[in-house]
Amino acid sequence: LKISSMNDKLIVRDYFNNTGFERWRRIYGDEAVNRIQHSIRVGHQRTCERVLEWLGDVHDQSICDAGCGLGSLSFPLAERGARVFATDISEKMILEARRRQKSRLPDSDNPRFEVLELEQIDGRYDTVVCLDVLIHYPLDQVEKMLAHLSNRAGEHLILTYAPKTLLFAALKKVGEFFPGANKTTRAYQHRSEDIEAILTRLGWKILRRAAIDDKFYFARLVMTARSASAVAA
Ligand code: SAM
Repeated sequence: LKISSMNDKLIVRDYFNNTGFERWRRIYGDEAVNRIQHSIRVGHQRTCERVLEWLGDVHDQSICDAGCGLGSLSFPLAERGARVFATDISEKMILEARRRQKSRLPDSDNPRFEVLELEQIDGRYDTVVCLDVLIHYPLDQVEKMLAHLSNRAGEHLILTYAPKTLLFAALKKVGEFFPGANKTTRAYQHRSEDIEAILTRLGWKILRRAAIDDKFYFARLVMTARSASAVAA
């Protein structure tokens, strides 16, 4: 089990340092892309906007953006005055995020971008965010990752996962999500009941939920707060 879970991470890291990096750099940029990638771009932007709306005034809050990619969320959070620690397993992503930082927020070390796997993050933050990352892992690993992130979060945990939907399953088969030899095995869909059960076990209550769907983008967005019983315990 341990070996297979290490394997998942190594495969994901390798993907986001190579073909995945190029693919997601285009999706998260503004150059012309095909219609599937465009739909994913638009859906993802809506997810980021919703998180910003839910968090409201983040001035002086500490936020960890776990699996930050190119910083699509980290940058606007920093621009709104949050202290952002942004980490990603992919060195290529972090180098590109730092390059963007030089033009977008020159002379600033906020966000602070670092190459770190989710479960290597330490410290404590008011809010921990993890967007469009859990899709890469099976449920048993999601549980371990959320347990780790949960210990890092003081007030809120915000995350997305890919729901089990038929269209998404079809897309996965087409290989649009993970081109290459492993294309049919690299995107995991999760049931809301399973994710919410994990969060409840970790002492959270669900504060907000949203379904953010575009033609080719399907995300369930969840924001938690500490549950009263967990505070009392
Ligand atoms: N969260 C970013 C966003 O919404 O713009 C990026 C989403 S991108 C689809 C997924 C990112 O998760 C990639 O940059 C990938 O390298 C990162 N990632 C995957 N597994 C990870 C892990 N175990 N630890 C840290 N980052 C990870």
